[in-house]
Amino acid sequence: MKNINDNTDDHGILSVVATPIGNLSDITYRAVEILRQADIILCEDTRMTKRLLSHLDIQDKQLSAYNEQKSGASIQKITDWLSEGKHITLVTDAGTPGISDPGSILVGHIRKNSPHTIIQAIPGPSALVSALSISGISIHDFTFLGFLPHKKGRETLFKEIAEAKRPYVFYESPHRIIKALESLKKFAPKKNVTIARELTKIHEEVVSGTAEELLQFFDDNKEKVRGEIVVIISN
Ligand code: SAM
Repeated sequence: MKNINDNTDDHGILSVVATPIGNLSDITYRAVEILRQADIILCEDTRMTKRLLSHLDIQDKQLSAYNEQKSGASIQKITDWLSEGKHITLVTDAGTPGISDPGSILVGHIRKNSPHTIIQAIPGPSALVSALSISGISIHDFTFLGFLPHKKGRETLFKEIAEAKRPYVFYESPHRIIKALESLKKFAPKKNVTIARELTKIHEEVVSGTAEELLQFFDDNKEKVRGEIVVIISN
């Protein structure tokens, strides 16, 4: 058993910090405090994180790019920093790290190989939970698919969604939403589809109906085939 209070000076801390998914006021007090304290901030895109830090008036922080495709700060370098007792925070461009975003490989590695490191969650926004919370769908259990595969396994997933008893949720880009709705129309024509778009931003919108109704909606409102999208399919 390891507790956050077990930390001593020579044990590093890895704080996994959620950041806003649109509205910058959605950062938590604790996230700001942790970002201020951090020795190093690992981020997906340093330009995006610089913008957030500047909004929070946090200056002179060491930023290091981290992604799970091996460019930027390597896991070995991060492990070294932690063994020197550094406080490292991990953020992504938006939302909660590790949820369809970099983070889980790093956290898994640190958990396994640096047992003295304190790994702590600094919870906050996530598009997944935000969308579910205003969907009006009863959520006791659900299946989250992240981003759908473009080719292999895609049709099988749509068939699985068609048969599902519980809600299914996935992230989708505006370039692919019409294609996803067309597949839903084909494989799951009777299901209710909820689209949560641009959450926490000026054009936040939630629309629902059958896939066919939503295709008609987007055909009538072509300017709305844009922004960031969460799709929920329910019975
Ligand atoms: N880790 C992030 C989280 O916790 O929300 C998700 C990162 S994933 C790379 C980005 C996807 O999340 C977008 O393509 C979109 O599907 C969804 N997303 C992010 N921000 C959103 C928003 N403001 N409104 C709706 N969906 C959003």
